[in-house]
Amino acid sequence: MKKIIADYNLKELENFVLSLGEKQFRAKQIYSGVMRGHNISDIPALPAALKERLLTEFENCALEIIKTLRSADGTEKYLYKLADGNIIEGVLMKYKYGNTLCVSTQVGCRMGCKFCASTLGGLVRNLSSGEILSQVLKVNALHGGTESRRAVTNVVLMGSGEPLDNYANVIKFIRDMAAEGGINISPRNVSLSTCGLVPQMYDLAEEGLPVNLTVSLHNVTDGERARTMPIAKRYKIDEILAACSNYFEKTGRRYIFEYSLIEGENADEAHARALAVLLKGRPCHVNLIRLNDVKERKLLAASEKGAQIFLKTLTECGISATLRRRMGADIGGACGQLRAGYIKNN
Ligand code: SAH
Repeated sequence: MKKIIADYNLKELENFVLSLGEKQFRAKQIYSGVMRGHNISDIPALPAALKERLLTEFENCALEIIKTLRSADGTEKYLYKLADGNIIEGVLMKYKYGNTLCVSTQVGCRMGCKFCASTLGGLVRNLSSGEILSQVLKVNALHGGTESRRAVTNVVLMGSGEPLDNYANVIKFIRDMAAEGGINISPRNVSLSTCGLVPQMYDLAEEGLPVNLTVSLHNVTDGERARTMPIAKRYKIDEILAACSNYFEKTGRRYIFEYSLIEGENADEAHARALAVLLKGRPCHVNLIRLNDVKERKLLAASEKGAQIFLKTLTECGISATLRRRMGADIGGACGQLRAGYIKNN
């Protein structure tokens, strides 16, 4: 595979263009073109000879959207093909305040959560910062957005992969995405979701990036958590909560827990009460969601009624919580479902 041009920010492109003996302003042209989601061959106003020179070293595009599925609720799901042929996926959710794109950070995942389709084939490879950024650029362009009038306003790192297991590339992605003159999406509009890699949660608190930290908790004791999340054997819930407290101290930002309700696993009223005890007094919010059934896995969603009771119990105990709609459930909304289906059928 050749290099990915979206891995370069404007400064890095300037250095590169100068090293070719080209004028510095060419870097700005390339950068604007890339930020508008163009392939190298389509960048306006760039001389043909320079395009050819670039194409000797860079892939024409980091990824292309090869399939779009649209749900009845407006949610869109994309399959992207990377330059090396690997497939990843993403989801665009439309809200009143803007459009949120869910991006993938790895091809596959090695965390092994039992309810998650992304991890079925293990980790294939990390995505580069430019490959993560290109998901945003391509979907923004697809919806007629530019770098100054954005069609994608918020980004969640909740697609395939464990973002903190691809730490350096994810941090560069967040910085490059926030750059002025680029697509300029602020870290405040970015949510990073982790299964709880404690050392990297401490590192993240030191980056000076005010991202919203989201932790996939999904249970209340280490023993039960380990049944669906192997990482629970490595990092204890107490350690995760301590890392969250540190994140709040360093950034002033409250944090969020994801809790997917699985029948017979984590969704009893007793779990709700234990969760409330665990989180009492913390500057946090709980996002409940009923599991998206994954046919490769035997786990099933808790009932709607059970989910309502869980929510009510938490709220009555003074915990801020919401039960999220399962957006795009009709199009395989959950992590890794679309890719898994595509790989099986092609
Ligand atoms: N690796 C990161 C981010 C990706 S998953 C993490 O673990 O947080 C984004 C969220 O979707 C996580 O909370 C994950 O546990 C959850 N998830 C995965 N599969 C799901 C499913 N089938 N139904 C509901 N939530 C699921």
